Amino acid sequence: MLINDIRQSARTRTKELTLQRWLIKGNWSGFFACKGIIELGQSVLRTGSAFHQSALIHLATNSVHFYWSDTDGRESELLQLQCDDCSYVIASEVPLTIDHLAICPSASAIQTRATICRVVLQHLNSFPNCVTWLRAHGRSSLSEVMSSLFPLSVTATPEEVILYLPRCMIGGFTVGESTQASKMLRFHSLTDGHSALDQLRFKCLHFLFTHYQSLKPIRVA
Ligand SMILES: [Zn+2]
Repeated sequence: MLINDIRQSARTRTKELTLQRWLIKGNWSGFFACKGIIELGQSVLRTGSAFHQSALIHLATNSVHFYWSDTDGRESELLQLQCDDCSYVIASEVPLTIDHLAICPSASAIQTRATICRVVLQHLNSFPNCVTWLRAHGRSSLSEVMSSLFPLSVTATPEEVILYLPRCMIGGFTVGESTQASKMLRFHSLTDGHSALDQLRFKCLHFLFTHYQSLKPIRVA
């Protein structure tokens, strides 16, 4: 028996089935298959721009580090950006995926994570109610900032732990996590808090997509 609104129940079931289909892909393109990324997609469809939609497709399908090799417009090959530092250390190719970027010890990756952290802090700094939280976390690292805003459950599986920072880096925090963060950041209403955190999603999405595009060779038309 359906107790809740039938449309709400249908929407919830559709979401579950979509997630299941994505999860059973079982390859690299399903890496980001989780509730947070589905809800990020819903935010983008609701209020994001065409640029955000394009960025979401590349990021959520874990394909943002792929590019076409052609520079003369005749022959092309699909390649992946590599992490030069780690490839050199282990003498083997290390694709510069987002999950690698989240943990890579190279100076360039550390700088990229620090820039994402600055994007988050500067965004929250535009809301006066965030001042108390910023006083405590304004000098923290990206993983510390994300852990404070969107704490990972103590019951999280190893897969959820691995996925955690990469999904937060692209703005894939869940509505539930946004609700908790809104309360902690002392927004006057959940509507204000969700709006501010949706804007934060878009800034993370925009930064990472633009960053990856800047690393790729320019294609000849
Ligand atoms: Zn690396």
